[in-house]
Amino acid sequence: MAELPPPTLRLDIDREALAHNWRTLDRLSGSARAGAAVKANCYGLGVEHCVPVLRDAGCRDFFVAHWSEVPAVITHVPPEQVAVLHGPQSDADAAFARQTGVRPVIDSLRQARLWSESGGGGCHLMVDTGINRLGISAAEAADPVIRSLQVEVIMSHLACADEDSPMNAAQRDRFDAAAKLIPHKAKSLANSAGIALGPDYHFDLTRPGLSLYGGVPREELAGQIRQVVTPRAAIIQSRTIEAGDTVGYNATFTAQARMRTGVVSLGYADGILRAWGGAAFAHAGRSLPILGKVSMDMIVIDLGAAPEIGEGDWVELPYYLPDAAQQTAVSQYELLTILGHRFAR
Ligand SMILES: *Cc1c(COP(=O)(O)O)cnc(C)c1O
Repeated sequence: MAELPPPTLRLDIDREALAHNWRTLDRLSGSARAGAAVKANCYGLGVEHCVPVLRDAGCRDFFVAHWSEVPAVITHVPPEQVAVLHGPQSDADAAFARQTGVRPVIDSLRQARLWSESGGGGCHLMVDTGINRLGISAAEAADPVIRSLQVEVIMSHLACADEDSPMNAAQRDRFDAAAKLIPHKAKSLANSAGIALGPDYHFDLTRPGLSLYGGVPREELAGQIRQVVTPRAAIIQSRTIEAGDTVGYNATFTAQARMRTGVVSLGYADGILRAWGGAAFAHAGRSLPILGKVSMDMIVIDLGAAPEIGEGDWVELPYYLPDAAQQTAVSQYELLTILGHRFAR
């Protein structure tokens, strides 16, 4: 087949910043070691781009959500370093865990039985301490099927780590109490925000996700976490419109005077939603406001501040996550995980 020409949209991934963020979170984890949540294709950035960087930075504990996410990750790291957070739902899942050597996270009595009956072996155990999502309840910790598991890492997950909530200390205390009942090798509680809650939350292993990729869920992390991802796109057409002309679907923008506009090839499928309406692209430090609605695969921008650029030139979408989340009212998690497949990464 003919060689594919390069696309007109690109996701720049700053690998130095990614490595820096892991090392920073590892250091902030104190005596605990930092792992990495690499589920959802490394929060949308791409396993093949991120996992080798995290591995080379020193990470040895990787967490995915689904079994389907395992093959891509174990091309880069040893299977025993990979844990599947959603755990085994079926005999097929348990068999897959055994054949690959990845660690299931046991999330319920049913999963504990399923894993034991399929032969057992090393696993992790999730204890629910208040988020009421996955995990065995505190009462179930005394169940013989749980006590007979070979638990490597006992873990729980904080519901409100990005807030100053009394729930944080309550969850930590419940976690401590449950861990006393179950033999295990290591304890793990904190996600990115949990790391910033301090040493009482670090235990043996932390599990940052968001902040590896540039997210800042708590003020304490601002200035320490670097931006990793920047969407860029080429101007595929420019035109001059006159006063009174409108732009885009539903004609929501009307030119007040003659102006130059550019069409950028980015849209919903790339993760750039209508929530970006009213924001601006940038070129060499100048702001190029979005005109009208983001429409499917295209965005029209005002080129007034950059008269020298036109078709074929590239512009960037400012994507510092705390600011972008404020601007769009889309969460930092969502801003990462919706980045689409058409970007060259
Ligand atoms: C996704 C996830 C994490 C990472 O959380 P962030 O808030 O992205 O740092 C940690 N632990 C579990 C169980 C998760 O599901």
